[in-house]
Amino acid sequence: MEHKAFVLSAHLDDAVLSASARLMRPGTTLVTVFTGMPPDGIPPTYWDRLTRAESPRQRQLDRLAEDDEARGVLGCDTVRLDELEEQYRSGPVDAERLSARIGEVFEHADEVWIPAGIGGHTDHLAARDAALTAVRALPERPEVHLYADIPYALWHGWPCWVTGAEPDPYLDVDAWLDGELSYRGLDPDRMVREVNALPPQARALKEKAVAAYRSQLPALSLDGSNPLRLRNALSHEVSWLLRP
Ligand SMILES: [Zn+2]
Repeated sequence: MEHKAFVLSAHLDDAVLSASARLMRPGTTLVTVFTGMPPDGIPPTYWDRLTRAESPRQRQLDRLAEDDEARGVLGCDTVRLDELEEQYRSGPVDAERLSARIGEVFEHADEVWIPAGIGGHTDHLAARDAALTAVRALPERPEVHLYADIPYALWHGWPCWVTGAEPDPYLDVDAWLDGELSYRGLDPDRMVREVNALPPQARALKEKAVAAYRSQLPALSLDGSNPLRLRNALSHEVSWLLRP
């Protein structure tokens, strides 16, 4: 039987930005949680205005098309759960329902990839926690990987253990990253580091897939205006294998 992997993305773009190497492997399905259509007549939100969207619904259609384009580049299947993202909701997501829905998708998974929640975005944390709850309820536990959320994980660049760079005498990125994991509710002692250094061909594919999310990249500082950040985003991906 084929080895089945599912990569959970909070928003359209998160998994491609953060776990593209896994998405490129055969037998991988991208599962995006917050893909729902904004309610009719809703005024543009803060993020809509920042990214110059005049109509939230039209922007969502644009983002879905961008995501299709990115998936086409990486060659993975997709499942969309059509939940409303935070900017279009009036309250928290129904965690129990979300977890049940993710559980249905994960039912026959051999491996699942989940956002670590670095940066603390409400939707990333909600998706992560619902997925972890879903995994606990499965009759057979799949392998669980938590991936570093790009671009939030790149606030201080990658730590030395990712890039092999010489330590900065005045900046310990590892301390920050470890602190982030704990602060966001994870236990670093249960997490085994994994570094994916993207070889040139994978990197070129990722670059092409990421470029598809054109409406989001400037606001995420991934449009090339911050060359170091973009280079970091394309060169490495980081995840942690979660011990049961
Ligand atoms: Zn996101």
